[in-house]
Amino acid sequence: MNDPLGRTVDYLRLSVTDRCNERCLYCMPEHYRGWLPQKEILSDAELMAVVRVAAGIGFKRFRVTGGEPLLRPGIVEFMADLAAFPGVESVQMTTNGMFLPRLGDGLVRAGVRNFNISLDALDPARYRAITHGDVAPVIDGIRQMKALGCKVKLNTVLMRGKNEDQIESILDFAGALDVVVRFIELMPVSMSEMLSEENFLPVGEVRRNLEREDILDPIEDALGFGPARYYRLRRRGVIVGFISAITDLHFCERCNKMRLTADGKLRPCLGNHLETDLLPALRPDVDLDALEELFLQTLAGKPAEHLFRSNYQPGRVMTAIGG
Ligand code: SF4
Repeated sequence: MNDPLGRTVDYLRLSVTDRCNERCLYCMPEHYRGWLPQKEILSDAELMAVVRVAAGIGFKRFRVTGGEPLLRPGIVEFMADLAAFPGVESVQMTTNGMFLPRLGDGLVRAGVRNFNISLDALDPARYRAITHGDVAPVIDGIRQMKALGCKVKLNTVLMRGKNEDQIESILDFAGALDVVVRFIELMPVSMSEMLSEENFLPVGEVRRNLEREDILDPIEDALGFGPARYYRLRRRGVIVGFISAITDLHFCERCNKMRLTADGKLRPCLGNHLETDLLPALRPDVDLDALEELFLQTLAGKPAEHLFRSNYQPGRVMTAIGG
């Protein structure tokens, strides 16, 4: 389907829970307890009804996110249903990786081969300071998914004063495992870590630092469906991606996605408050025609770009929007 600007929008990011076992600085406050009531989180049947309608109007790619999607009960079975659904061409997952050692094998058997795994630091103390979590199972999970032949990309959110000194070790780790690493500019989607001169580290600065010691060969082939621009570091042999929502003024020109929150709100853009409540078409009974109508309405109202450069204040914590 095309949006009013003629952009092909065929990529749906499904948040399947707002729960998370970590508390990343750029996502939610440390003592956050504002989880959605369980009954407000879409059931597997409701999620699959959304997938049926989305696939029916041309969505082909589905990324499952959260919160932490692996906290959702029955997630492996849900991923198997999603991967097997007619019209679904690609299924991917974004995860903090902590439960991959336990669930990774099952996910691969379910048909998931494409994982974006958050890794904001390798140093255990630094990782804990940023996420309030433990990096060891994440590293094990990354190694395991790589060993199982999966496509693994590491997501590193850049935070000045928090992790710029981790970039070298993350690049070495990625090189040793032959996985892609993406450096992501901080976006104003947090209610605790407000975007500021102090914490904002533009992608351009990281890139210039890398260019002082290496050559960045652009990779034309799309290594994914998102907005990242990829380069191979000639000397290191590592592929890096840059996601610059703040400093790249053309960032949204290639937008191909919409997001579904865990409680059934369809968002045409991460950086905008626009959302359509799908619950009236899902409860008490699923109405596929009404659901399709709501999808088309939301697509017709898709904004040209985000509001991040316009003093944007998020209406929800990131974990309730979905990565
Ligand atoms: S910020 Fe919004 S319009 Fe821009 S790429 Fe992301 S979802 Fe698309």
